[in-house]
Amino acid sequence: MSTPQGPSDVIWDITYACPLRCVHCYSESGRRPARQLNRDEMLRAADAIVSLRPQAVEFAGGEPLLVRDLLEVAERISGAGVAVNLYTGGWTFDRRWAEEASQVFSRITVSVDGASAGVHDRIRGRAGSFERAMRTLAILDEVSGERGADPVEFGVDYAVVRSNLDELEEFCRVVAPRFPHLRFLTFAAAVPSGLASRKEFAEHELLDFGQLRTLVSREHVERLRSLAPRSVQLMTSNNMILMMHPDLVQRHGFPMLQVEPDGEVRAMPIYEGTVGNLLTEDAGTLWERVKERWSDPFVVEALSAVRSMEDWAEATRRIDYHFGTDEVRRRIDRRPLYTLDDRTRGRRHIASMAGPASGHQL
Ligand code: SF4
Repeated sequence: MSTPQGPSDVIWDITYACPLRCVHCYSESGRRPARQLNRDEMLRAADAIVSLRPQAVEFAGGEPLLVRDLLEVAERISGAGVAVNLYTGGWTFDRRWAEEASQVFSRITVSVDGASAGVHDRIRGRAGSFERAMRTLAILDEVSGERGADPVEFGVDYAVVRSNLDELEEFCRVVAPRFPHLRFLTFAAAVPSGLASRKEFAEHELLDFGQLRTLVSREHVERLRSLAPRSVQLMTSNNMILMMHPDLVQRHGFPMLQVEPDGEVRAMPIYEGTVGNLLTEDAGTLWERVKERWSDPFVVEALSAVRSMEDWAEATRRIDYHFGTDEVRRRIDRRPLYTLDDRTRGRRHIASMAGPASGHQL
């Protein structure tokens, strides 16, 4: 990774509205104002992003499909020669939308966090979300099959936490083959950001560094690949790059820029703290400010001390509190504790949903 003149990837959380309530949500979407721009403002923000000449823009959130003018905004960017990719929880998706979206987006990624409804729905915080995600994948599969030589580049992103770690093999063996045109499958570890940075969540749900090593080990990846359909491109990621450890960033730079729904630009993608707004300042100037933050003494001190996942979560909380606005600090203070009771309730819920019913669903 060389130090880029500008970001190669821009992630735009285009809304903080979301029908789901995931326990690990980095952006706390659905629990805060959507902060969504109107159509004209989104188009202006899109132009500002294009001026940075990234290779790709990822539309995330929140749930991007809740944004009425999403396709027009994405087309504005793709029309300028920049690839646009979509992340969705798959709650709101229909056939007509799939056909239109697949003409605009280079890749469509559906988030699925388990091989069973019990595990996925508990993590995603809404009953029925697994079935909706499966239906979305089935629609994409059908549309892709009809396009013959020009298939839809669609796949699954599975955020790995301890609650769903033992369903990875089942996902490869049972769920992935349901969609013959599925193109990719990514098992990426959840990182301590947003709700996932809560102390108890990091202790009980985030993979420890040993589990992260196993997740990306060659033996493990080969095992998963042997279970998944051969046509699926399977990857795992420990997502350690997102920590932005000062030694690595100093040596290699960092390729991503994160934009909040209203055009505020984050200094570091998974951490709170912004450097200005795309609607009121030059995008190139903001990128320079972003790079300055990476070597801020507070950031360097907080991240240099990380030796474990718990350390990383603590560093996140410190950075968020230090660089966040008063509104951010109030939101952090209001976060519900992730308790052992939550986990126990989750296990009971999973147990009650296991067996023939979930087997039939799959
Ligand atoms: S679907 Fe995404 S944005 Fe919505 S609550 Fe879950 S993690 Fe957050």
